[in-house]
Amino acid sequence: MSFRIAVVGAGPGGLFFATIAARNLPGAEVVLFERNRRSDAFGFGVVFSDATLRRIDQADPVLRDALRDHGRHWERIDVMVGGEQHGFSGNGMAAIHRRTLLELLQDNAERAGVELRFGAVAPPVGELSANFDLVVGADGTNSTVRAHLEEAEPIGHQVTTATAKFIWFGTTHLFEGLSFVHRESEHGAFAVHGYPISDGLSTFIVETDPGTWRRAGLDRFDVDQPPGASDTDSQAYLEKLFATDIEGAELVTNNSRWGSFKTRRTRTWVRGNVALLGDAVHTAHFSVGSGTKMAMEDAVSLADELVRADGDLEAALDTYQDVRKRSVARIQDAAGPSLSWWENFGRYQRELDPLTFSFHFFSRSIDIDRVAERDPGLAASVRDAWLAEHGTAALDTPVRLGEVTTTGRLLSFDATLGSLSDGEHELPSDAVTVLEAPLDEADLDAAVAALPSSGAVLIHGGGELTRVLLSEEARLRRGLTSVIVIDATRVEGDRRAGVRSEAETLVLSRRADAVATGAGAA
Ligand SMILES: Cc1cc2nc3c(=O)[nH]c(=O)nc-3n(C[C@H](O)[C@H](O)[C@H](O)COP(=O)(O)OP(=O)(O)OC[C@H]3O[C@@H](n4cnc5c(N)ncnc54)[C@H](O)[C@@H]3O)c2cc1C
Repeated sequence: MSFRIAVVGAGPGGLFFATIAARNLPGAEVVLFERNRRSDAFGFGVVFSDATLRRIDQADPVLRDALRDHGRHWERIDVMVGGEQHGFSGNGMAAIHRRTLLELLQDNAERAGVELRFGAVAPPVGELSANFDLVVGADGTNSTVRAHLEEAEPIGHQVTTATAKFIWFGTTHLFEGLSFVHRESEHGAFAVHGYPISDGLSTFIVETDPGTWRRAGLDRFDVDQPPGASDTDSQAYLEKLFATDIEGAELVTNNSRWGSFKTRRTRTWVRGNVALLGDAVHTAHFSVGSGTKMAMEDAVSLADELVRADGDLEAALDTYQDVRKRSVARIQDAAGPSLSWWENFGRYQRELDPLTFSFHFFSRSIDIDRVAERDPGLAASVRDAWLAEHGTAALDTPVRLGEVTTTGRLLSFDATLGSLSDGEHELPSDAVTVLEAPLDEADLDAAVAALPSSGAVLIHGGGELTRVLLSEEARLRRGLTSVIVIDATRVEGDRRAGVRSEAETLVLSRRADAVATGAGAA
């Protein structure tokens, strides 16, 4: 008996799912609808981290082979800022032109027997759902399949829009690996995420803050034009600003327009005989390079569960949703600090010297011990720079809090008593103003308003990211001395080393002047 599947959208998620389902699901007949023509592909390249592709490669080697035969591979991330270049080795990554990947996935789907209907907007979901046993919405961020489900009953779809503006180009300049190029124009700070995707082309994504974007007049493009036309005024502005970094090469447009990244989270991914996958249900900021990977992993998981459930569609879809929601949530949580970094990079660019700025970026989600495992030279140069400036290692350097000077920068805080100690002395209670960070970034403004005008603050509560953001506001904008409290439950046993490393990272990256541990305090 045949099992008829309609897939909406021939992005990486839809194509990969259709292929594996057609190949592995007994009796499957798969029809894939794609509104674009076969040769249309928006965007330039996609990056993948070497470490994360096992699940996809096991299902089908198409991506591994594509990266090997057509992609570019590197081990180093570079930051170029203020005339200096700082590298972070040991980060194996590969990138490929999105168009090449899609072509290979299309060929693969055809070989597996998928019926590919290009130039075909999918019929209404109700119609598909009546005529097929399963409908898979792999139709990207503006998914009509998701909208259809939501119309019937809420599916808990949340969208958070970043304030930073980004635009996507290519360039014939070949970056050596993943390169972050920072420049200040008379209007404000700009940054490029550049990486090679073939022998002749690199991806060139530019970010800036909304104020800079408007001051530079980059908001003049008529966004009501249909997809296709690119913002050539912005292209000219950025070609000039980054001319020396790309050796006068041109920027290549492809539907290049400014946008604001939208992080999407969805509570319900499946209903009846309809399942959503990829960008239709979740996105994570592109700086962590996981969107395509997540869409392809969803595809593997959905196809696997269908095979495993042996005809029990409801069980297959429920398990798929359970398994993938957990995994995607982990990636989205990890993407949070990275997205936040890009929301604030202009401030870091202005306030931090080039090496500290680079380390601040590299340590968005890993501490200095883990940086040292991958790149001992980078960790040593950051520690040496501190030593040269202060004469002692970061955590052994005294800091002035109110009228007292501590013996070092790893302190302990007792939330119940409100007392702070440097291990040798109890510090007077007026040494710091104690502030609680909010749980949610949206509530930061109120916490910022409560910062004192001078002295030292101790920031506890909230979340890891909000504590850091409040501390940076205190240090970088107000010139206050700031102590961040980190979770003391993690100082037990062999986690002690991890806490020292976390504290050292916060101090070396200038996220905080000192760190305190304290049970229940963070
Ligand atoms: C600036 C930027 C940089 C990125 N960089 C990376 C990166 O380096 N690495 C990475 O892994 N990811 C990256 N991503 C994310 C990645 O592009 C997406 O996560 C990925 O393409 C999602 O795949 P998908 O198959 O779910 O959807 P998509 O690739 O969006 O495909 C959806 C398809 O559905 C089609 N469609 C929509 N509606 C209909 C309809 N009604 N009928 C028929 N067809 C329809 C669309 O035409 C489209 O072809 C980046 C994203 C952005 C914005």
